Amino acid sequence: MPPSVEGFPREKPFCCGSRGEGKTSITLVEVRIMAAWLEGVEGLTLKGQIRVPYTWWVGEVGSRFLMALRDECKILGNRCKVCNTVYVPPRKNCGRCFVNIDAWVELGREGVVTAHTIVRFEYPLQPVKPPFAYAVIKLDGADVGLVHIVKKDLERLRNGVRVRAVFKEQRTGHILDIDSFQIV
Ligand SMILES: [Zn+2]
Repeated sequence: MPPSVEGFPREKPFCCGSRGEGKTSITLVEVRIMAAWLEGVEGLTLKGQIRVPYTWWVGEVGSRFLMALRDECKILGNRCKVCNTVYVPPRKNCGRCFVNIDAWVELGREGVVTAHTIVRFEYPLQPVKPPFAYAVIKLDGADVGLVHIVKKDLERLRNGVRVRAVFKEQRTGHILDIDSFQIV
């Protein structure tokens, strides 16, 4: 009797054709035998690269956050009315309390670096050319860190230093409308 495989009946073969009649049918035993040669063999891998442009809606909360960056150079967060946590970027729901968040908060442009790493090697998809630093920044008025970049004075970058957001002249409604954070 063929071995059982989850989702398929034990004794019934499945078919390659749409109707089954007159088509070649393959039993599960045969499928297993076909794959048996792979046992103990390291599968082959090939390197490739695909480029997949796509567009996605950032949602009502994300839209307001990014529009405030673009149109007013303001950094908006939002506050959970149950636990009072101020999130930035703002969230639709509080992950701690499972309630919708509807109270907007304008945060300061300054904050404190709570974690960072300096990037010296160039790699695809980096926001800018190295050297630069990724930093977690706890903005004044926020309870969580915002991940962004620091481009200048990297030798002075430490956890605990204060930084200030620098906005681009040309803004498009993107997190990089904040060009970077500078040490103050
Ligand atoms: Zn909450």
